[in-house]
Amino acid sequence: MKIAENIHRFKGTLPGHVTLVAVSKTKSVEEIMEAYHTGHKIFGENKIQEMVSKWEAMPKDIEWHMIGHVQTNKVKYMAEFVSLIHAVDSLKLLKEINKQAAKHNRVIDCLLQIKIAEEDSKYGLSEEAAESLLQMDELRELEHVKIVGLMGMATFTDNEMQISEEFNTLKNFYDKHKAAYQLHTLSMGMSGDYSLAMAHGSNMIRVGSALFGARNYS
Ligand SMILES: *Cc1c(COP(=O)(O)O)cnc(C)c1O
Repeated sequence: MKIAENIHRFKGTLPGHVTLVAVSKTKSVEEIMEAYHTGHKIFGENKIQEMVSKWEAMPKDIEWHMIGHVQTNKVKYMAEFVSLIHAVDSLKLLKEINKQAAKHNRVIDCLLQIKIAEEDSKYGLSEEAAESLLQMDELRELEHVKIVGLMGMATFTDNEMQISEEFNTLKNFYDKHKAAYQLHTLSMGMSGDYSLAMAHGSNMIRVGSALFGARNYS
């Protein structure tokens, strides 16, 4: 009941060009079905196994987004159905996605994760590394993957100035490259910072707790 209400209320306020990825990690199939019955069909998970079991159990018109870090050896489990992989950060991973997608005769859309947070996160590419990846000839040979945009996560802080600067940095980088590489998706913003992210040009937000309530890790 509460989840359906939250989804309706949330989507009511979103501008039309912004896609909502409902982040359902740790939530049960029943809870996600409550969201699904409102007509929402885009869900995000950060663990491949969990996403696979939900995909198996749930209606097949759901678009599943992998928003978490991807281990190369697990790509094969999701290649049949994943609709967007948000956190791609190496050519090695792109090659594996390409190989597994080919087995299913698919082209899998991917976002490059760019490191914008000040905190010492292990994941994400620097702008320089992302630029050189985008320019690689080897990338052009991967016919079963398509880089369609960029993803970033701001520092976890109350300092809105800092969050704004980080989002702004990513937006500028996106604007600089979107025409040349035909990028159309900028995934930034979560429950705590999606308004700021949208103000800075995000067109895809990944929202979990604001829709489903706090997560219970057990
Ligand atoms: C969990 C997660 C989210 C959603 O977080 P909330 O604060 O619950 O909205 C967004 N992006 C990524 C990469 C996540 O892992």
